[in-house]
Amino acid sequence: MRTGIVKDRRYMEHNMGASHVENPMRIDAIYDMVEKEITFPYLEIEPRPATEEEIQMIHSLSYVNLLKETSGKERVVLDPDTATSARSYEVALLAAGGLLKAADLIIEGKIQNGFALVRPPGHHAERGRPAGFCLFNNVAICAEYLIKKHGFKRILVVDWDLHHGNGTQHSFYDRNDILYFSAHQFPHYPGTGYWDETGLGSGKGFTVNVPLDPGKTDEDYLFIFRKILSPITALYKPEFILVSAGFDIYRADPLGGMMVSEDGFGALTSELLALAHDFSK
Ligand SMILES: [Zn+2]
Repeated sequence: MRTGIVKDRRYMEHNMGASHVENPMRIDAIYDMVEKEITFPYLEIEPRPATEEEIQMIHSLSYVNLLKETSGKERVVLDPDTATSARSYEVALLAAGGLLKAADLIIEGKIQNGFALVRPPGHHAERGRPAGFCLFNNVAICAEYLIKKHGFKRILVVDWDLHHGNGTQHSFYDRNDILYFSAHQFPHYPGTGYWDETGLGSGKGFTVNVPLDPGKTDEDYLFIFRKILSPITALYKPEFILVSAGFDIYRADPLGGMMVSEDGFGALTSELLALAHDFSK
């Protein structure tokens, strides 16, 4: 099987309130689409929960405990954007674990690539705090898992979400074994991600930020991927590519200012698949 999709309606059990934009209906709609409209064969991946040890590769023990204590409570407000419901902690473990399971299946050769359709999202979550709808930093946990568990030496994280992935950047800012690349609307939430944020110490040059005015189109994003991301990837030769595939750069997104179309997402994905084919065996 070529592609695996992490899909589990338990991801709907995390609920930050009926009026919250990051609500369970989002993933329900996507799962409906997957079930009705995807015609190619794919492997449906049942996620496993990440272990506390795996979560603590990125997050502090005190933060893990803080989230664990929300378990069973109807609502805990963590910051102005982010809250939990009774099952959020367990669902957050399942979100991170969904990526880990997909990565394992790729490494085992069962699939060539995977799409983790999970929530809550992760790229704003910092070592010791949640942020911007994010509880655990799923992509950072997966990148570290690939290094620590599977012995990879070079991981590329591409973040095309509208927002800068502050938590992911900060997780690996002084390291060169995980290269973080983000194109994002700027200035915008969370405020980080300017050109001059390029890494520290041995990580200098291994954080790449492309801050953008709103209004960028498919062609603009393809230009950035071909002229900036592609040559960097050719030099870095990542063994594994992870993508923070936020779809809020979509042209009809009510919160974002970008103009990417359905075809644009397809074209960006094709670019990344070509890079993975060339460099990530
Ligand atoms: Zn976003």
